[in-house]
Amino acid sequence: MDGYIRSARIHEYNKPLELDNIYKPVISRDEEVLVKVGASGLCHSDLHLISGEWRNIIPLNLPKTPGHEIAGWIEEVGTSVPENIMKPGDLVAVFGGWGCGWCIQCKSGDEQLCAFAKWPGLSSFDGGFSEYLLVPSYRFLVNVRSSEVVPENLAPLTDAGLTPYRAIKKIKSILGPGRNIGILGIGGLGSYAVQYAKILGGGSKVFAMDRSESKLELASKCGADHLVNLRSIDNLVDRIRAQTGGKMLDVIIDCVGTDKTFYDSISILAKGGCVVIVGLFGTAAKIPIAMTVLNEYKIFGSLWGNYNELREVIELLNEGRIKNHITKFRLDDVNEAIKLLKEGQIIGRGVLIP
Ligand SMILES: [Zn+2]
Ligand SMILES: [Zn+2]
Repeated sequence: MDGYIRSARIHEYNKPLELDNIYKPVISRDEEVLVKVGASGLCHSDLHLISGEWRNIIPLNLPKTPGHEIAGWIEEVGTSVPENIMKPGDLVAVFGGWGCGWCIQCKSGDEQLCAFAKWPGLSSFDGGFSEYLLVPSYRFLVNVRSSEVVPENLAPLTDAGLTPYRAIKKIKSILGPGRNIGILGIGGLGSYAVQYAKILGGGSKVFAMDRSESKLELASKCGADHLVNLRSIDNLVDRIRAQTGGKMLDVIIDCVGTDKTFYDSISILAKGGCVVIVGLFGTAAKIPIAMTVLNEYKIFGSLWGNYNELREVIELLNEGRIKNHITKFRLDDVNEAIKLLKEGQIIGRGVLIP
């Protein structure tokens, strides 16, 4: 149908998405860009959103299109978009975290930390589970300018392949020869985290930890030095002590973020060690005060990545230094993909192709 596009939308929380024919978005402001979606990654955050768990923190006017990991081609641009920066036909990655542009966080380059930041598919703006996406400004797009890169490899880099990059950059100074870094949870983010730990780790040994053997196999392909199957070991602390010759782990990137994974992380940290939490599964975790003081533990949260960090990971992809591990689904099969993600059956990142 002319003037209509297909979008997978939430009509009711905790129900399957519905595939709707909706009006194609129209450019109405000078800086806007209409993107023909080439691929849209499927994230655990989408599950929280669709189930209604986040209805208080992210109130939505339903129906709403989720999807915040998006890449595609420019279809049309507003009148003030400079032609030398972006033009129809260009392949672009959509940076999430659409900040206000003038606050201290935005001005320092961390728009994802803007108090007014809006994400496509996680705010009043519709997301990428759709044939088209209207982006409020060309400032939120990265023009990829490579004939090698395809949207399905690019889309996951805007979140799954970006979040662990920022997390590891934060603690890079702790890493180096003789150091150990653990990646806890080898899901969509974890397979990238292992690769960044090798690239940025200065020779640190990388420990991949998960409950699934097939996910650990993926970690091994990504370069992990040690695999720890959390389902089959008796005692995590003893195991890490044995495998590190008593040194324990200097850094843990917690890609799961439950009370238990946080506590487990603390229990296997080396002195001066650091936990970076990027997963969002839990609610609250207890910090053992004495151990934290005596060992000078550091605990960071890390949110998404900023625009320049997105450019950096795209450059790593362009140079062939990172590999994507994706499972493709048609937009029509979105509910099947969501079910598999919930069951932990997607290895790497699930990506929807409209
Ligand atoms: Zn996400
Ligand atoms: Zn701002």
